[in-house]
Amino acid sequence: MALRNIRQIGDSVLNKKCKEIKEMTSRLEVLIEDMLDTMYEAQGVGLAAPQVGVLKRVVVIDVTQEANHPIVLINPEIIETSGEQTGEEGCLSVMGKSGIVTRPDYVKVRALGKDMKPIEVEGTQLLARALCHEIDHLDGHLYVEKVQGELHDVTEEQE
Ligand code: ZN
Repeated sequence: MALRNIRQIGDSVLNKKCKEIKEMTSRLEVLIEDMLDTMYEAQGVGLAAPQVGVLKRVVVIDVTQEANHPIVLINPEIIETSGEQTGEEGCLSVMGKSGIVTRPDYVKVRALGKDMKPIEVEGTQLLARALCHEIDHLDGHLYVEKVQGELHDVTEEQE
């Protein structure tokens, strides 16, 4: 298990566009394993490569946080959306904060899996939100750009 440092807002690596991945390499395999370890350790539901300082188009997502079936998406692209949901969103690169963001309620994504074969992933609710959020990271966008109202401290909101 190898944990990587999660870059925080203000780090310019989070505002850059990531490069498409052309082939699976052993370095990329290690990156994906490390991203999964880092996401679970931080109790996040998703992590994008730029958050660990790597400008490549790869994200990992697990809305169950159970580590059974993480979703690994290479070069993901949103090909369909519908509906709307408005709710709390946070980011491992904006520690301790959350804010209200409106996202589609359904999203369909085309990507490559870890074996570099084409896959499609559909998600509603939290998964749809996570797909949009993580794919935004690959183009250098953070959810804070989309927050309605102010960011607030997570600790104050917890029961
Ligand atoms: Zn994020």
